[in-house]
Order: sequence, then C-alpha cells, then structure tokens
Amino acid sequence: MPNYTFKTEVNQLLDLITHSLYSHKEVFLRELVSNASDAIDRLKYLTVSDDAFKTLSFEPRITVTLDEEAKTITVSDNGIGMDLQELADNLGTIARSGTRAFLEQLTENERKVSNLIGQFGVGFYSAFMIADQIEVVSLKAGTDKAFIWKSDGKTGFDIEPAVRAGFGTDVIIHVNEEGEEFLFRWRLEELLKRYSNHIAWPIHLVSKEKTYAKDPAKAETKIVDEQVNSASALWRRSKSELTDKDYIDFYKSLTGDEKDPLLWIHTKAEGTIEYTSLLYIPSHVPADLYIPTHEQGIKLYVKRVFITDRELQILPPYFRFVRGIIDSDDLPLNVSREILQHNRVMMTIQQATLKKLFSELEQLADTNPEKFNTFISLFNPQIKEGILSNWNNRESLLKLVRFKSTEVEGWTSLADYKARAGENRKTIYFLTGENEARLRASPLLEAFSEKGIEVLLGTDEIDELAFSGIGEFDGMQFKNVQQIDAEDELTASKAKDEHEKQGKKAIAILKKVLGERVKDVRLSKRLDKSPSCVVFDKDEPTPAFRKLMERLTNEPMPESKPILEINAGHPLVERLVTLDTRKELSGGDIDVVQELEDLAYMLFYEAMMAEGEHFEVPNDFGDRLNRLLAKVS
Ligand code: ADP
Repeated sequence: MPNYTFKTEVNQLLDLITHSLYSHKEVFLRELVSNASDAIDRLKYLTVSDDAFKTLSFEPRITVTLDEEAKTITVSDNGIGMDLQELADNLGTIARSGTRAFLEQLTENERKVSNLIGQFGVGFYSAFMIADQIEVVSLKAGTDKAFIWKSDGKTGFDIEPAVRAGFGTDVIIHVNEEGEEFLFRWRLEELLKRYSNHIAWPIHLVSKEKTYAKDPAKAETKIVDEQVNSASALWRRSKSELTDKDYIDFYKSLTGDEKDPLLWIHTKAEGTIEYTSLLYIPSHVPADLYIPTHEQGIKLYVKRVFITDRELQILPPYFRFVRGIIDSDDLPLNVSREILQHNRVMMTIQQATLKKLFSELEQLADTNPEKFNTFISLFNPQIKEGILSNWNNRESLLKLVRFKSTEVEGWTSLADYKARAGENRKTIYFLTGENEARLRASPLLEAFSEKGIEVLLGTDEIDELAFSGIGEFDGMQFKNVQQIDAEDELTASKAKDEHEKQGKKAIAILKKVLGERVKDVRLSKRLDKSPSCVVFDKDEPTPAFRKLMERLTNEPMPESKPILEINAGHPLVERLVTLDTRKELSGGDIDVVQELEDLAYMLFYEAMMAEGEHFEVPNDFGDRLNRLLAKVS
C-alpha cells in the first residue's frame, strides 16, 4: 500500500486524463518541460532577489533523456527542486485553481476537451497517460536532503529519502504500452521543437544511438547530447529578424493555445525608460475568461529574468484576455513583487503599454476592419466591462466599442451613429435582448424605422448596463426604446389621429379586462403595422435590466409592470370596439363576452411575446388563441 493517498480531485483528474485525452497524449512532454522551466525561473529569481542565494551560480538547463532499453523518458532540471512537504503537496493535489476549473469544465463537457487542454494545461499528471510508474527525484535548492516520490498513478504515492547530485528535479517516466511511440529520439525531438522551442532555457535531448557500420556487430553505441530548442528571448530580437511563424510559435509555447493568435503587438520602447513588450490577442475567447480567479496573462521579466505573472495586475482586468511579455532593464531585480505595484518605472511601463494597446486597436479598426470585427465579436463584452469599470480610459474604450444597428449591416461605432444622426439629434436610441433577429422584428421599432431614426441593438447580456453606464456620448444621451419617454421625437401621424376616438374606447375596454396585469394602456406613437406593444415607465427597470441585476446580485427584484400601447387604427383594435358594442346590444351574450376578453388578452400577450425572451408564455394563451381561431369562418 502506498503511504500517501491522492486527494479525490486528483483521482478524478487522473481518471479523466487517462481516459479522455488519449488523442493528446503527447502533451505530457510540453507540461513537464514547462514545469522544469518554471522551476529554473524560480531559482533564477532567488539568485537575484534573495541574499542567501546570491552566491549560487548555475547554468540553467533542462535535459530530456531517453533510454530505449529501460523504456524510460526522464525530464530533468536544475531548478529550485522540491522538499518532502512540497513533493507531497504539489504532486498530491491540484494546486492551480485553473486546473480545478478545467476539471469541472471537463466533466460537464468533455467534447470540448481538445480546446480546453491547451488553455489550462493538465500539468504533471498528464504523464500518467503513458506511464506504468513515475518517479520524481528532487533536491530543493538550499537544503541537503533529496527525496524520491513514486506512484503508479492509481491510488497514491510513496516518498522516501534519496540521493541526487545537485539541486533540481528528475521526473522519470516508466513508459507503458500506450507510450511506446515516444521511445524514439526523432519523435521526442520533433515534440520539443514543436512545443518548447521558445522555452527560455536550453533543452538538451540525450539518448544512446548506434553508429553505422557495415558489419552490425561492429556498430558502437554512443551518447548523443544535443540542444534542441532555440532558447532565445524572442521578444528581445528585432522585428525585422522575426517571421510571422516565429511570433505564432512563440505564442503557442507561451500560452499552450493550439490556435494561432488574432494579432500581436511588438514594441521596443527607447528613451527615458526602456522596455520591450510583446502582446498577443487570442483568436478565440479563452474558456476560463469568466472564471473569477482568471489571472492576467502578462509575464513580467526584468533583464530577461522572469519575475511574475500573478502578483502584479499589469493591464486593467478587462484586458485579461491579452497575453504576452514585458521585459525591462530599468526595473530593479531585487525589489519585492508586491512593491513593484507602486514602483514609478513600473507604472510608467504599464501606462505606456495600455496606451499602445489602445492605439493599435484603434488603428486596426481603420486599416483592417475585418480583423477588427473579429476582435469585436470576441471581446466586445470586455470593452463594455471596461467602460463600466474604468473611467480613466473611457474615451479610448468608447472609440473601440461597437454595436449592431437598425441602419447598417455589421457593427457600428458610436461616432458613426452620431455622424449619421446629424447635429440636431441629441438622443442615441437603443434596444436590448438576446436575439438579434427578434430585436430587429420588434414592434417597438416600427415608427423609428418609418421615420428613419437609427436604433442601436445590444445583444450582449452586459448591454443593458453598458448603455445606461455610458450615459452620454459626445453630447448625446442614451434612451431605451422600451421605455415610455423614448417616443418624444415621434409624433403621431394624421391617420392615427383619425382613429383616436376608437382608440380611446379600446383603452377603456382593455383597462377593464386586463386590470392589474398592466400598469397602464395608452395610444401608441411608435406602432405602424403591429396592433400593440409593451413599454416601461421611465423610472421602472426593464425586464432585461431586472434579469441581469438578479443574476449579478442573486437577490430577487420586484417585477416591473408593463404599459400596453395600442395602434388605434389596427383592424384588431377596431374589432375589439365592435365586439364591445355587440356585447352591449346583446345584453351581455356569454359568447361575445368571452371573445372580447380573449381578444383583449391576445393583444396583450402578442405584445409581450414580441419581446419574447423576457416573458413566459402565459398558461391561457393556447386556450384563448384556439377559441378565437375556431370563430374564423
Ligand atoms: P502546475 O504546473 O500547473 O502548477 P503541475 O501538476 O504540473 O501543475 O505541478 C504542480 C506543482 O508541482 C507545480 O506548481 C510546482 O510547484 C511543482 N512542480 C512540478 N514540477 C516541478 C519541477 N520540475 N520542479 C519544481 N517544482 C515542480
């Protein structure tokens, strides 16, 4: 029996990894090399920041050793190493919240495995896909006792004292049948080049190779030890030296993303403060973007030494999808990571990086609208999040944000809306909902479209807040067309006035039949073809706003009562009035009363259903509709 057992979540992950990710078995090597590189980064950082390690000199190196006979692949590093406690903790639980989130997503939706795998990384445990047993021999830098961790990846692990020549870690994989394809030098070399070429430290591949001789008996075995990666800090090289492929490969090895990035911005700032930044925007929405613990994606280097990617929020949180590197020679190496947040040089670099990001995106909108539209379709919600959260960069964010519109295909900017509206209009109209096609068909838009007044359509959940959050753009106020006061610019047409008497009668009928179901019934200025629509009072939250707030605060909010507006000239309204007269004449004939009531309800239900997603279909909808249809001769 092993002397330690895995925590349950490890068991779950092991099970999932070994059963679901077979087609991605090769990721084990990338994961182990990335751990080795992190371990070297951490030790390197100590040598510049911690007096106890200042005198330590070491040549960072990752070594992958293949032993075909023993069927082992060993990934070694001379990084920080792990002591007894760390071996038990780090290799017995899932340390990173991202990994845990990954696990949760996986069980829910295993289909997406192939995309998620690159985004979270599955870590050390992925090696069990191809292992009967794994041994980890480690000596922590600054200590003198090495330990060996052993496990078959099933229930638990053992840890015993061991011997290791210097600090660092060896991960020894005893390859099982599933992993035999990796017991070839060319295969490992290909994988290391593909996934780990841009790891900043040299990776050596060591194996025994037979020399060629005519008489096979005379062939000798010799050890081949070659560096297989380029190990250069790519971001420090000049743009002219680098090809698109270099940038793309670097992105992939930096992020583990299997897809190419949408774009990258490589900047070398020279002047009072010198730094290099290489920022990437992914070509898809990262699966963990909305997980609250999502970490920012910029790694900070000082003089090529990796400092942190966690403690410091380099870009504002709404840009958390941006990945990349910032490297500066002007920052002190030995400053604590926490103090960096308040360092003047660091703040200047942060501001300049953000400014550059904004200006590049603005430029992209002009020079490559297609690519910019892709950016918007992926990250528009984050731009809106920024508008709501960060007043400092409001102007820049308002230049980037885009909306759908009743007047143009595709996306439009607020500046373009203003240009089309002309100098005299002081209102930007908007309507929100989840489904663009349904929004476009809303009766609320009829008179706006007849008068050629453009309405912005918001289909992101955050739009309900975003529009009211923007409040004003360049002297224009925002108004929700679902609210009662949006009709100020719409004047009723003559034709509609002619029916005013009929409309007033209908209002009285509807108020009586619908009673408490509606806040009010009014004649509409905004309807053209449809018989009715629902709107909301000025100070009353719209259903979309209520729904969003309930989701955000987890507290129920009181329902807003709709106001029913009717199109006085519509035949159904006319029919309603006729039925009422017949009711009077017949002395309250039961069939006529029923039909009148059914029709009144249908005018209300139809209006609600046009705003579909906010209302449930009422229970009596079918009965009333069927009764009315049965009367059609
Ligand atoms: P992750 O790397 O995503 O945190 P892993 O399961 O790969 O998850 O590793 C868990 C932890 O084990 C790491 O965070 C690190 O602390 C430790 N670790 C793994 N490999 C090494 C190594 N080669 N040297 C030092 N520590 C390591």
